[in-house]
Amino acid sequence: MATEDTTQQANPSEEEDAIGRIPTPPFRTPKGVHDILPHDHDFHTYIKKIVRHRCRQAGFKRISTPTFEFTEVFKRSVGEATDIVSKEMYTFEDKKGRSLTLKPEGTASICRSYIQHGMQDWPQPVELFYIEPHYRYERPQAGRYRQFWQFGFEVLGEADAALDAQAILLPYRIYEDLGIVDTLKLQINNIGDLDSRTQYAEALRDYYYGKERYLSDEDKIRLEKNPLRILDSKHEDTMILNQSAPRFSEFISQESKDYHDEVLEYLTDLGIEYTLNENLVRGLDYYSQTVFEFWDQKKGAQNSVGGGGRYDGLMELLGGPPTPGIGFAMGIERVIAQMKRNKVRVPSKDNLHVFVAQLGREAKKVCLPLMDELRERGVKTMGALGKGAIRNQLTIADRFKVPFCVLIGLTEVREGTAIIRDMTVGTQKTVKMEKVVDEVIKRIGIKNLDYYNPKEPANE
Ligand code: AMP
Repeated sequence: MATEDTTQQANPSEEEDAIGRIPTPPFRTPKGVHDILPHDHDFHTYIKKIVRHRCRQAGFKRISTPTFEFTEVFKRSVGEATDIVSKEMYTFEDKKGRSLTLKPEGTASICRSYIQHGMQDWPQPVELFYIEPHYRYERPQAGRYRQFWQFGFEVLGEADAALDAQAILLPYRIYEDLGIVDTLKLQINNIGDLDSRTQYAEALRDYYYGKERYLSDEDKIRLEKNPLRILDSKHEDTMILNQSAPRFSEFISQESKDYHDEVLEYLTDLGIEYTLNENLVRGLDYYSQTVFEFWDQKKGAQNSVGGGGRYDGLMELLGGPPTPGIGFAMGIERVIAQMKRNKVRVPSKDNLHVFVAQLGREAKKVCLPLMDELRERGVKTMGALGKGAIRNQLTIADRFKVPFCVLIGLTEVREGTAIIRDMTVGTQKTVKMEKVVDEVIKRIGIKNLDYYNPKEPANE
């Protein structure tokens, strides 16, 4: 999943080998995007289940915003000088020349939606969560893709240090449920209000002016556009310079300091360990006050599995009423990688209970309603409905690792019976057709059935 894909769409006229397979497939996914194959879907399903459960418990409701928005939504909110807007957006024109962008992050769209649907009239705070793909034109590498899934949430309409602590507690509990919390370290900072940040930006400019030759090209641009971002630099010389740069603590207002202390106090009361990280500013312009990230203990900033912060001025940037907000987003691919490294196993519900093998058209006629009834009663059933000798069908059943097979040949059709074969021990028994489903269920065990009624509240 993490390997760089250099083979782009090869020549579609590639020749087939003797058994009809194409040695080098003519089409592959574009660089930086991936198929999610069934095995990884087990992880996605598991993560989604935990996320939904935790969010529901805390009163969050799910929202989905469109895959693309007017480009201006991101330019205004995320900020023109940020990496995301200046380099990483998938922007295109529609047929009428309007500029649209595949969403690179979730917060801007949700704030746009809050304003558009008058959510300020809903009971506050409005708590929303999402699980969606996002798109950034980044250089693909391990944990960095061009399409990636994020779970995220926003709490809109109220500002309080307790809400910030809650916005950290929720992902903390989710990481705990996912079995990776011990591999992560919470980094936290307070980046103050706009006034103190403006003063600090000026002080940073004064400090770096005259030292430009030590800065990377990228950091030189940051110096003009958003000097706070230099503190995030991974460039070695810049990192050395950063050690003696003015500290934000000299500029932060007493109000922000008190706010920060209050958040930290709540975290301590909740038993959540944190690392104070003055260099954490996050890549987006809209943050103010609390910012936080969950880093891999060993890889640090290179492997942030989630992050968020407060953004009290964002709604106004998008033309809405002054509305405080705090949000969080985690990268699902990175979480899965972290779970795999940590050897977390997830349940797979794709395993089959029964394979139905048949011979002949008459048998097929009996098979279809039988398979339907098995499934209706919660037995995960697959059948070899194509042509093929029973022996071949049993080989297929073996490859699907089913515990039981039901075999129906001409004799069974004539006698109104079926053979139930235990694939583990290799024994088999002939039973009356009308008893087949009950017998199969008895062997599988009622508690293992995959039964749900769409009209009943689902467990998912
Ligand atoms: P951000 O708001 O940019 O910090 O993104 C939130 C989380 O999304 C990060 O902590 C990562 O886990 C994940 N993420 C961000 N960009 C990517 C990417 N290009 N590929 C995979 N995951 C990403």
